[in-house]
Amino acid sequence: MSAQEKLPPVAGERISERRARTERLMQAFHEAYPDAHCALTYETPFQLLIATILSAQCTDARVNEVTPALFDAYPDARSMAAAPIADLERLVMPTGFFRQKAKNLLAGAQRIVDVYDGEIPETVEELATIPGAARKTANVVVSNCFPENAAGIAVDTHVQRIARRLGITRQWEPPKIEAELMKFVSRDHWNMLTHLMIDHGRAICKAPIPRCDECPLAIASECPSQGRWDARRPRA
Ligand code: SF4
Repeated sequence: MSAQEKLPPVAGERISERRARTERLMQAFHEAYPDAHCALTYETPFQLLIATILSAQCTDARVNEVTPALFDAYPDARSMAAAPIADLERLVMPTGFFRQKAKNLLAGAQRIVDVYDGEIPETVEELATIPGAARKTANVVVSNCFPENAAGIAVDTHVQRIARRLGITRQWEPPKIEAELMKFVSRDHWNMLTHLMIDHGRAICKAPIPRCDECPLAIASECPSQGRWDARRPRA
């Protein structure tokens, strides 16, 4: 989403109407993307935490190429906390920003051992204190591994763009977008919303120009941004 992407308001829409429209959108998302799931490969909450930290500025596919060797060598917090930093750097190098990421993995694993006795904490507030794991990462881990503790919604670039295009929010900053989503999306959908919007963002509602003519009709008919890009759509 470009910084210039200005979106039309949903004229005269009341809060209760936006909540009802958002519910219809969520149903449509579930129908359009029934197989939506976390694209990172993991077997334990610790491994999802590490994979999510590595996914910053990197594709999930690249992370999934790197983590098997990393988790073979360091499958849990105790083993990673004792890892030589140079070995962590070598293993995570293909994900980019490898020095900072390796530093965060080591410090994060050490905090999990020192403060949480080697077990991953199960709340967003506690997870967000682990080096390299800000609120978005904490939400990813909780929503996938401890869904009963869900306390928010992971807002990545796809969620940011699509929630604005759909007119669920007019905010720009992820914390404010998350707060608005929590206001309009019923709690039942919090854990899946990120996966659904990521699938939709990769397949149809792309940046900078979405494929509105291929958008699932149930979503398109509820979207105030539908067709705004038609004139700018490159010819095939
Ligand atoms: S109609 Fe267009 S802008 Fe709206 S959700 Fe679908 S692809 Fe995105």
